[in-house]
Amino acid sequence: PDLINQIAAGEVIERPSSVVKELVENSLDAGATRIEVDIEQGGARLIRVRDDGGGIGPDDLPLAVASHATSKIGSFDDLEHVASMGFRGEALASVASVARFALTSRLRDADSAFRLEVDGGRMQPVRPAQHPAGTSVEVRDLFFNVPARRKFLRAERTELAHIDDLLKSLSLARRSVEFRLSHNGKPLRLFRACPDQPSALARVAEVLGEGFPAQSLHIDHAAAGMQLSGWVGLPTASRAQADGQYFYVNGRLVRDRVVAHAVRQAYADVLFHGRHPAFVLYLELDPAGVDVNVHPAKHEVRFREQRLVHDFLFRSLHEALAQTRA
Ligand code: ADP
Ligand code: MG
Repeated sequence: PDLINQIAAGEVIERPSSVVKELVENSLDAGATRIEVDIEQGGARLIRVRDDGGGIGPDDLPLAVASHATSKIGSFDDLEHVASMGFRGEALASVASVARFALTSRLRDADSAFRLEVDGGRMQPVRPAQHPAGTSVEVRDLFFNVPARRKFLRAERTELAHIDDLLKSLSLARRSVEFRLSHNGKPLRLFRACPDQPSALARVAEVLGEGFPAQSLHIDHAAAGMQLSGWVGLPTASRAQADGQYFYVNGRLVRDRVVAHAVRQAYADVLFHGRHPAFVLYLELDPAGVDVNVHPAKHEVRFREQRLVHDFLFRSLHEALAQTRA
């Protein structure tokens, strides 16, 4: 099962940022309001994610890193199936099989904390530890026991850039949560919590750069059971515009051709040609109308009614942009 865990890990854990993604998503699931990500050497040496979420009790620590689905994998077909469905309940087990791993946690109302270490898949006994309410996951020496994978890690700053991008996109998705990122002991990012709509623009500005808000247009449009909100950048004569294109479907970052086309068309039609606008947009629609589980590690979606979504996006943006020209 350990080899299978390692192979499985290879499907989900491409690089340090994939680990960060799984850990931060767990923290969000645990109801964290503050999440701290500490990285050393681009994540090759250390990835640590701390949160102030609900925590894990001592009896549940081994369960959290135990493999469930992978223990049932008997063939390569099964493996492919699991990979394409996403590793529900498998992320920690996968990570723990390819790194020196530690999980330390204290339940919100408990007065003591506990720690579980897993060394390349070998689980150690649970021990008492010091930790505030919440959870820390430490992942050291990623892929130390999978040399072929370790070799594929890129330069420190490349891996860090992937992690930074990931945190930016997660922080725009969850604006009421505070995110911190540090690298080799140096604080790199602090995205403060922006619980309400007006202050949300502050986070957008932090992420996309200060140039963004002054030249942006607020979008808020609903029709045909869909809602589009967020901000789109406007062209500016003076300086290079902030860049960054973030599109969320029901809270998940998505890169999609239907979306990209609708946005491009709306801009091209109204304002200017050949430019790539910056935007942060949130589309909400009936979950039954969209399949987000195409591949968990990619940002793909499949809309049931592509045409409808495309036209809704195009119209919403077109209308808003046209007003700025009037
Ligand atoms: P999944 O998130 O799909 O359930 P994971 O392997 O990512 O699978 O996590 C396994 C379990 O460990 C979670 O279901 C959760 O109960 C627990 N867990 C992981 N990370 C945290 C965290 N930061 N805070 C609280 N519980 C956690
Ligand atoms: Mg998870």
